[in-house]
Amino acid sequence: MNGKQNYITESPAQTKKLGRLLAKEILKNKPAKTGRVLALSGDLGAGKTSFVQGFARGLGVKETVNSPTFTVAKTYPLKNRGGFKNFYHIDCYRLESGADLGFLDIKKIFAGCQNIVAIEWPDVAGKILPKNTIAVDFETTGKNSRSISFDF
Ligand code: ADP
Ligand code: MG
Repeated sequence: MNGKQNYITESPAQTKKLGRLLAKEILKNKPAKTGRVLALSGDLGAGKTSFVQGFARGLGVKETVNSPTFTVAKTYPLKNRGGFKNFYHIDCYRLESGADLGFLDIKKIFAGCQNIVAIEWPDVAGKILPKNTIAVDFETTGKNSRSISFDF
């Protein structure tokens, strides 16, 4: 993968597969100075969590990844894959502002170079996202079709 990517998926399985592929690409690159953050934007039902499920699988996570909507954040240990040790799935859907993220010590999570983070509804965290955050944008283009784009 290199540069702006634009995909159309026609099923949840295809969206998961795309997430898995991106995870494998990310693992090919050594950890950088900050955590590796994915910011996933798009309407409810656009496929963000489906993508994260495949992404986690690609990172080697065996547990089932569910939407963390009611828990805000979930942590999954990684077996030192490519130098990465933790995967965080964060969902800010229910948060009013970035201040609500304070209790998570989220700056530390973003800063930790051994962390991979997928954050849904990232707008409230906008100011504190690392500069090299990968924006992944989702659009519902039909009953089962989704347009997914990112730059990596
Ligand atoms: P989000 O996290 O963006 O709210 P989810 O992944 O939780 O989205 O939900 C996506 C919903 O859309 C699921 O019910 C899924 O079955 C459905 N769906 C239909 N087509 C697709 C597709 N191509 N990719 C992902 N989800 C799809
Ligand atoms: Mg979701």
